[in-house]
Amino acid sequence: MTGANGPIYRWRVGEVEITRVLEFEAALFEPTVIHPGASSEIIAQHRAWLEPALMDPVSGLMVFAFHSTVIKTPRATILVDTCSGNDKERPHKLRYHRKNWPYLANLAAAGFVPEHIDYVLCTHLHADHVGWNTRLLNGQWVPTFPNARYLFAREEWEHWQVAEWRAAYTTDPYYEDSLLPVMEGGQAELVAADYAFDDNVWIEPWPGHTPGHVCVVVRSPQASVVLSGDIMHTPLQCAEPQLNSCFCVDAEMARATRRRFLETFADSPVMIIPAHFPTPSAGWIRAHDGSFRFHFDHPALSHYS
Ligand SMILES: [Zn+2]
Repeated sequence: MTGANGPIYRWRVGEVEITRVLEFEAALFEPTVIHPGASSEIIAQHRAWLEPALMDPVSGLMVFAFHSTVIKTPRATILVDTCSGNDKERPHKLRYHRKNWPYLANLAAAGFVPEHIDYVLCTHLHADHVGWNTRLLNGQWVPTFPNARYLFAREEWEHWQVAEWRAAYTTDPYYEDSLLPVMEGGQAELVAADYAFDDNVWIEPWPGHTPGHVCVVVRSPQASVVLSGDIMHTPLQCAEPQLNSCFCVDAEMARATRRRFLETFADSPVMIIPAHFPTPSAGWIRAHDGSFRFHFDHPALSHYS
């Protein structure tokens, strides 16, 4: 696994600047493991367009990116999703276990130091979206972003208060090392799932993957962008919207939400940045052959306005 592949991409939406900061990108999941409903026939049917960028032809594994997205408005700097983190004990999720990613160096290369971040927002509270909420300092988990308010949708926070729900997801201590320290340190704030930062940036409830899952909308008269979190994990789910990920909490709602999302944004000028699509991660949903496809923004066109 490498942290290479162009960690930083930047787009402009009116007076708002959106920057993708990569933690890592790798061919990670068997398609039939990440999408338990995917038969080998379905994979074979889509193999030609999935390979090589979206599915590694040698291993047959789907390529995943883990990145934060920094939204810089004239008034505030908002960091969305904090990847998997460093030094975390994740014996049941080895892809996140005791890592040493150059994430803060990538953030610095993009022009941000932790002190610059005014808000941290997690689209949902799975381990790969909360990791850099904290870092290990002198044996203690401390908030990585000392001046930030950490915003969590209230419904999402309340769901994960139930130890059984956490245990059904993983017994790794992500709640203890990445969530409790910011809550107990007084930096966390529970917000409504339609919280607005201002007239141009707000969150919207799109539940199913998790009960309080939100998307982040950035809108200006010139352009709009939606950070769609984990409504879709792979572009295969655009072509086959009925496919859930193995991490979806409410299977029926996840399917219905995904379909509604695809229908809402198909053939619209709104750019979508899912949380795990491979580099450059951003693109547009297009209707295709009775279903949908994801048209990636070409890296050479990294300015969108
Ligand atoms: Zn995720």
